[in-house]
Amino acid sequence: MSFRERLAGRAFAADARRKCTTDAVQRLAGAADTRPPRLRLTSVPALPHLPAVRRDAARSSRRILLIAAGLGILVATSARAAELDWRRLGDETAELLADVLRIDTTNPPGNETAAANAFARKLVSEGISVEVIESSPGRGNLYARLAGRGAGRPVILLSHLDVVPADPRTWRVPPFAGAREGGFVYGRGALDCKGIAAVELMAMIAVKRSGEPLERDLILLATADEEAGGKNGAGWLVHHRPDVVGNAEYCINEGDHIHVLAGGRRVVHVAVGEKTPFWVKLVAHGEAGHGATPPPLTAVTRLIRALNKIRRYRTPIHVVRPVETYFAALAPLEKEPLRTKLAHLAASLDDPIFLAEFARNPRQNALVRNTITPTVLEGSPKTNVIPAEASAHLDCRLLPGEKPSEFLNQLRDVIGDDSISIETLLSLPASSSDPDSGLVAAVRHMAAQDLGGAPVVPSVTPGFTDSHYLREHGVASYGFVPFVLSEDEEKTVHGTNERVSVENLRGGVRRLVGVLRALPPETPR
Ligand SMILES: [Zn+2]
Repeated sequence: MSFRERLAGRAFAADARRKCTTDAVQRLAGAADTRPPRLRLTSVPALPHLPAVRRDAARSSRRILLIAAGLGILVATSARAAELDWRRLGDETAELLADVLRIDTTNPPGNETAAANAFARKLVSEGISVEVIESSPGRGNLYARLAGRGAGRPVILLSHLDVVPADPRTWRVPPFAGAREGGFVYGRGALDCKGIAAVELMAMIAVKRSGEPLERDLILLATADEEAGGKNGAGWLVHHRPDVVGNAEYCINEGDHIHVLAGGRRVVHVAVGEKTPFWVKLVAHGEAGHGATPPPLTAVTRLIRALNKIRRYRTPIHVVRPVETYFAALAPLEKEPLRTKLAHLAASLDDPIFLAEFARNPRQNALVRNTITPTVLEGSPKTNVIPAEASAHLDCRLLPGEKPSEFLNQLRDVIGDDSISIETLLSLPASSSDPDSGLVAAVRHMAAQDLGGAPVVPSVTPGFTDSHYLREHGVASYGFVPFVLSEDEEKTVHGTNERVSVENLRGGVRRLVGVLRALPPETPR
């Protein structure tokens, strides 16, 4: 967490600098113009569904690569619905993924354009028009759209191209080699999120190859910068290129997946809500001086005192509605007495013994209270120097519906030291989507067909994704990854030896197409 936090801090600082000075923008524009495009464009036929590229002054700060199908268009699928070879599609997905895993998109700096271009080439070879849109040089976002029958508003498949760092010393295989071994594809991003991007892209290709259009337009977005908050990726697109999102009704994004319970039972989680990040920085002040003659209280000791109070503080238990619904949906899968306890979670947590047991699981604990996690610490750069300032970052995560301003007041009360200032680093609005929508119904239909009737549970996740950008734009967004993941596999996300099985890539494309096909043409209002 602390590592990720540091990264995010730096990325935001860089972003602020970039936005603040016109000079910087001009420099970026200059730099952009002198660089050769990485993906050569040969013939660019008219793209009926894409808006014309206008190179106005504001746009000149970023390169927009417009790529379209050249000869690929001529090999379009036959009019007759073709039988799809899921095994072959899965193997192609594995190959494509291995290629993209070899492109290091560690954020910062991200450099997602190279990965966006690699994915773009695959789409172009299938005759699908693509646009790689840069929020700034190197920060590419992939956009493609496949026309449907127009019987409903579009559906978006969203993923991200950037990854968190990987320390090769702790990996069994090099993290940026796209290694394949024992039925798995290894690499940073295999699950988070290039594996998902590859499956979403191949699902689009599968629909195209079938020759049978979907009821709705299908939009593919693989964006930059998610791991640092998405300001230069999904957030940027929603604000600067709202046309790519259009009037979409649904978005399928990362966030949750198909879980395997003890005994092998599968449960499909669809994330309908997320906790909200509220990242703050505590800054303690004091007189600078020599470490040999310390005053009674310094910036560092003041900070430690505040952090100790936070460490001892227990945030109140609060079972919000979507969390209550989530555990009630999981209850029938458990044996008594847990079954009854989960079915009535709020009442059950009044029992201190059950609460202690429940909260021992960090994920469960995070779903019933706000959490405060100290991560980054900064003080003196030298052992014998007392700094005038010491600071700590707190990764606070708020339950859906909590107000950041009220939480901030609680935090001030807990610290009880007016000399410590609290700066907000990141605060996003709470977001959730309807658990009874046509999209969730489509996932249920797929689970009945493809997963032996596995139960589908609308979940809330302690982490956050780019979904809130789409929700703010009026698109109902869901965290649904069509992979069946064991706990061991889940742990490799942001961890070591991240991997995805070729079996999951095969099944993932099939299940995702199953969901898209099952989506009702229009959601009854
Ligand atoms: Zn991710």
